[in-house]
Amino acid sequence: MPASSNCCGKADKGQDQNKPMTISQATDKAMTAPILGQGKALRLLARTRASGRLAHAYLFTGPEGVGKSTLARNLATSLLCQHFDASQDVQAEQATGCGLCTSCLQMQSGSHPDFLLIEPDGQGIKIDSIRLLKQTLGYPPLEGSLRVVLLKEVHTMRREAANSLLKILEEPPPGNLLLLTSADEAGLLPTIYSRCQRIALKALPLELAAEVVLQHKPDLTRADCLALAELSGGCPGQALRMEEESILPLYQDLLAALLHQGRQETEQVQAALSLAGRLNEHREMSGHILHRLRILCTNALATRLCGQTPGPHDQTDRAFRTAQTIQATRERWNTEQLSAKLASITKAEQALHKNCNPTLVFEVLLLQLFDCLPFVSPDA
Ligand SMILES: [Zn+2]
Repeated sequence: MPASSNCCGKADKGQDQNKPMTISQATDKAMTAPILGQGKALRLLARTRASGRLAHAYLFTGPEGVGKSTLARNLATSLLCQHFDASQDVQAEQATGCGLCTSCLQMQSGSHPDFLLIEPDGQGIKIDSIRLLKQTLGYPPLEGSLRVVLLKEVHTMRREAANSLLKILEEPPPGNLLLLTSADEAGLLPTIYSRCQRIALKALPLELAAEVVLQHKPDLTRADCLALAELSGGCPGQALRMEEESILPLYQDLLAALLHQGRQETEQVQAALSLAGRLNEHREMSGHILHRLRILCTNALATRLCGQTPGPHDQTDRAFRTAQTIQATRERWNTEQLSAKLASITKAEQALHKNCNPTLVFEVLLLQLFDCLPFVSPDA
């Protein structure tokens, strides 16, 4: 979702007009939606909301695309709704406001003056955003008795910004609720972690994640929804982004090319470099593709070492297709080759993690996977 560059209402007070606006009213309005598969978190929030004993700050954790921001937005919408009734709300785990009052309509249009969004700008959340937030929180909410601030991916803050946020969390002005999200708990200052109530979201079972994808993309086949769910590791938001960026065809083309036998060497090199280029174009999503390749090679290697023929554990089409792919992979490469492929994937993942040149990393990896370049162990 693109960050809004607008800032209006309360956030303008005390703002230096020459500074870039880094705090905004949220405009990613598509994200008020039912949450599936997170019953524990939903029940906890519904009970707390109904009791009226909300914490001053919540930290939503879980993998990217699992629904953290959606859940935070739903909570904000229900709390800001003019028809919100805590006594009626205890059963309403999916509460997202009445959808009709001025407040709900403002939330839908991204213009609610008491709902503010702070999200990474470039590499991360900037210190200026947190300073501006501190100023803003010094004023009372504009329309009601509550202001809600959603801070997305707070692990992207540098230490200076994190320390500034910490001061806000230590003494939040009354009438403000802070909702933080993070896909990387290890990247958070422990003091931030300890000053929020944590709501942990887990990746969904693949069938459920596929159902969410299908709800948003009814034109897709169920098989493609399942494949996207699998590729995203059960995170529907991530699966939807993959669909928009055509990641599934890329993964399927890569698999088909890798498992195709009998090509001339020049054709192999061309195929490898072409796919390396496509991976590079989608480098932000490439980690998921490498992860799935790793799982495939690991499974194929395991069946070779155990001397078993892979078979579906159940009778679903997906299980059958997965077993077929593992079978094709173990027939394509022997134990030594599979070990080398796994080592190549690991080395590429490590290189990408260290910010090595991705063009080079993908080209070397693909040439090794296509047997055009030998894998050289660092220990050799
Ligand atoms: Zn409402």
